[in-house]
Amino acid sequence: MSDQPSIDAVRVATVVDPKKSKSFSLKERPTKGDAIFESKKDAKASLDEDALAINDLQDKMFACKAGALLVVMQGIDTSGKDGTTKECFKYTSPLGVNVFGFGKPTEEEIAHDYLWRLHVRAPKKGYIHVFNRSQYEDVLVVKVRNLAPPKQVEQRYEQINAFEKMLHENGTRVLKLMLHISKEEQGERLKERLEVPEKRWKFNPSDLEDRKLWEKYQEAYETALQRCSTAHAPWHVVPADSRTRRDAIAARLIRGELEAMKPTYPDPGYRLDQFSID
Ligand code: AMP
Ligand code: MG
Repeated sequence: MSDQPSIDAVRVATVVDPKKSKSFSLKERPTKGDAIFESKKDAKASLDEDALAINDLQDKMFACKAGALLVVMQGIDTSGKDGTTKECFKYTSPLGVNVFGFGKPTEEEIAHDYLWRLHVRAPKKGYIHVFNRSQYEDVLVVKVRNLAPPKQVEQRYEQINAFEKMLHENGTRVLKLMLHISKEEQGERLKERLEVPEKRWKFNPSDLEDRKLWEKYQEAYETALQRCSTAHAPWHVVPADSRTRRDAIAARLIRGELEAMKPTYPDPGYRLDQFSID
């Protein structure tokens, strides 16, 4: 690997510092990612190395069942929530990873409190779960489109912090990634969705409605990232204009989280000399 930033360096470059979050502004956060990975070639090599390491770590985690990992993936339409998930876990056994997408709540979901559909899909020990959209939609789209009274939305930041703290204290690490793209890049990607026949199914006219609300979404993201970056579950802003760099940065962070869990293969509970196989 010619030029791979350390996991710590990637953390420092992307984290929303829980202590300094009052001064946080998305406009000051890069969308390109070239300050972390100057060359795309290095990013590609780093992603490959990390995707393999993620598989090894997941295997150990599954074997020892000491804890779980929840990756919360948020970002505006076309920011690459699907693509990042696919790339970071491309070598991981599907036995140990589950991905859940959260769209408009169903009738059943809306009849419960908003965290119900999230909690029931939180990982059990040994597993990695990815949330493609998450509890944060309830302070993002719900806020921007006035789908709940402002007072209720206001209460949710602390409720989400308490929910994530509870998960953390019960053995689930929570890694939160906000995929940060520029408005220009989103414009290009939406055009691509209309132009490329294989991508047309991804286009939804409501994406254009949301694009008109760009500034309101950015503000809602800033508030959510500011108020819900905590010591137990900090937010990371991942520059997402370059797909390759985005995936490589996310993979460094996911690998770091798994390494921090220090998973090891458990003692099998027998001596090898107890058995002979003919
Ligand atoms: P997609 O991720 O492209 O499949 O789109 C899912 C859509 O569901 C997005 O427009 C989200 O904003 C929307 N969505 C997700 N969660 C909620 C929620 N709690 N309330 C209303 N809309 C939501
Ligand atoms: Mg969409």
